[in-house]
Amino acid sequence: MELIKVGVIGSGAMGSGIAQVAAMAGHEVHVYDANPVAAQSAANNLKISIQKLVEKGKCTPEKSEEVLKNIFFQSSIDKLNYCELIIEAIVESIDVKKEVFSALESIVSDTCILASNTSSLSIASIASACNKPERFIGIHFFNPANIMPLVEIIPALQTDNTITNKSIELIKSWGKTVVVCKDTPGFIVNRVARSFYGEAIRLAEEGIADYATIDWAMKEIGGFKMGPFELMDFIGHDVNYKVTETVWEQLFFDPRFKPSLTQKRLYEAKRFGRKSSVGFYDYREGALNAEASKDVELGNYIFKRIISMLINEAIDTLYLNIASMEDIDLAMTKGVNYPKGLLRWADELGLGTVLEELESLMSTYEEDRYRPSVLLKHMVRENKHFY
Ligand code: NAD
Repeated sequence: MELIKVGVIGSGAMGSGIAQVAAMAGHEVHVYDANPVAAQSAANNLKISIQKLVEKGKCTPEKSEEVLKNIFFQSSIDKLNYCELIIEAIVESIDVKKEVFSALESIVSDTCILASNTSSLSIASIASACNKPERFIGIHFFNPANIMPLVEIIPALQTDNTITNKSIELIKSWGKTVVVCKDTPGFIVNRVARSFYGEAIRLAEEGIADYATIDWAMKEIGGFKMGPFELMDFIGHDVNYKVTETVWEQLFFDPRFKPSLTQKRLYEAKRFGRKSSVGFYDYREGALNAEASKDVELGNYIFKRIISMLINEAIDTLYLNIASMEDIDLAMTKGVNYPKGLLRWADELGLGTVLEELESLMSTYEEDRYRPSVLLKHMVRENKHFY
C-alpha cells in the first residue's frame, strides 16, 4: 500500500486514536485541532499511549520514535494541503462538519479522499457540502480507535466506487477489520446494539428485575463481557442517550428504536455514569448498590428477551440490505465485543424460538417495538438458517 500523507481533523478521543493507528501503519500524519489546548493534550497523550506499547513489547523503542516523529500537530488547517486522505473527527454537528469540508476542498488536491468519522450523521448530507461529493466517504472507527479492531466504511449515495475500494484497502492495511454498510442511521453497530440497552431498561422500568440482576443475566447466561447497565454507565449517558435519540429520530420515529425516559432523566440530571460518579449505579466511595438476585429462571427470561430483540434487529439489517450477513456478525463481535455474531447465534438458538419469543411479546404488549422482521418470518416458514 502506498504510504500517502494522512490528515486528521480534531484531536479529541477519536482523532488522536486514528492519528496513532495511521502513524503506526507508517504514514506521515498531520493533525489539526481548532483548540490548541486540545492539540497539546492529544500530543502528550499520544506519547504516553505509544510508550505503553513499548512497555508491553508491542512496539520497539526505534519504531515508537519513528511513529512520534511522523505525527505533526499543525496550527492551521492549510498545512493539510499535501494530504491524500483526511479523516475528520470533530464535534458531532452537521453544520460545523459541512463548513470544515467545504473549506478543506479549496486547500487539498482534487484526488484527496475526504472522510468523516461521524457516528450518527448522514454521510450523503455531509458530502453534499463538497464540490466533489464523489470523493467523500464515511470511515467510522470505534472507541478507543487504537485498540478496537472494527472500522465501518460507509459510501454515500454520491461516493465513487474507486474511493470506496481505495478506502477499504487502505484501512485494512492499517490492520483493521473492515465492514461495509449503507448510509443508514447508526450504520451497523449503533443500530443493532440499540435493543441491548433499550430492552434492558424496559425490563427494569417494568420492575421485572433490577439493574444488577439484568447485568448478571446477560454476563452469566449470555456471555457478554459487560451487562447493559454497566456498559451504558461506562459509555456515558450523554453519549449513549444522544445516539439512541438520533437513531430514533432519523428512522422517522420507528417505535423499535424509541429512547427511554429513564435514560433521558439520567442525561438531564447529568448523571452520566462513571464519568460523573453516578448513573444507573452509584460509584461514589462507600455507596451501596443492590446485589443481583441470581435467579436462574428470571435470568433466562431476561436473556431470551434481550437476545431475541438483538437478533431481530440484526436480521432486519440484513433484510434491508444495509450490510452482508458476514459483516453484520463481524461488526458486533469486533466493534462491541459480543461473544458471538447475532446471526450465528440465531441459528444456534433456533430461528423458530426467536420468532416465538417476539410473537409472544408482541401479543402481550401489542407494541410495534416487538414486531418480528419479515425475513425472520420467511426463514422460519421455509425452515432455513443463516450458516
Ligand atoms: P471530542 O470532543 O473528544 O473531540 C473533538 C475535537 O474536535 C476537540 O478536540 C475539538 O477541539 C475539535 N474541534 C471541534 N470543532 C473543530 C473544528 N471546527 N475544527 C477543528 N477541530 C475542531 O470528540 P470525539 O469523541 O473524538 O468525537 C469526534 C467524532 O467522532 C464525532 O463525530 C463522533 O460522533 C465520532 N465518534 C465518536 C466516538 C466516541 O465513542 N467518542 C466513536 C466513534 C465516532
